[in-house]
Amino acid sequence: MGIAENISAIKATLLDGVRLIAVSKFHPAEAIAEAYEAGQRDFGESRVQELSAKAPVLPDDIHWHFIGHLQTNKVRQLIPHVDTIQSVDSLRLLRLIDSEAVRVGRTVNVMIQVHVAQEETKFGFAPDELLTSLTPEVVEPMHNIIITGIMGMASNTDDDERVEADFEALRRVWQQLKEGVMASNEAFRELSMGMSHDYHLAMRHGATMVRIGTDIFGERQY
Ligand SMILES: *Cc1c(COP(=O)(O)O)cnc(C)c1O
Repeated sequence: MGIAENISAIKATLLDGVRLIAVSKFHPAEAIAEAYEAGQRDFGESRVQELSAKAPVLPDDIHWHFIGHLQTNKVRQLIPHVDTIQSVDSLRLLRLIDSEAVRVGRTVNVMIQVHVAQEETKFGFAPDELLTSLTPEVVEPMHNIIITGIMGMASNTDDDERVEADFEALRRVWQQLKEGVMASNEAFRELSMGMSHDYHLAMRHGATMVRIGTDIFGERQY
């Protein structure tokens, strides 16, 4: 099947209100253009260099989501292109995004990356760490970011119970933030979780955004 067919097949399986982020990393601009022609507007990229090369040659109304590990020295390059930075994994990075957004006079959507999976090497806040460190004192002074939700990944395993427990842990953190420090922030409503192999499970646990690459574009050539 082609890219357009893959997108419509996936869309047919999405629960109401779930937004599809087409993860286009390692795929050429032509593939993205094909998805765009099929009506797709949200795309995810994981490297600043790659996103900043693609964005200028593709339509302006694409919403670019950054989903990879973001080094502080790349923030300045990323800001002009990006709609949402989903992978904010430290308060330092959060503050830097805000000050850079102030500098260029724009507002950037951000999501906080939460780490619940078993793998040691993944980035993100541990749930307890996030709940204690994201306080009103931290959030209130920042004016050029909108915190729209959290992003996370489940363990990379065939054990569905483990995967569902991870998604449920993400949902709980999200819920606690919604009722806590984010209670007065109406924009805080996105729970980004689920990839090609596990998005069905993620939706069962309340995902509002799923990030799908392989099932749309095929295998990546690294
Ligand atoms: C690459 C990537 C995805 C998409 O993974 P697929 O298995 O190709 O669907 C989703 N989320 C993040 C954070 C990624 O890096």
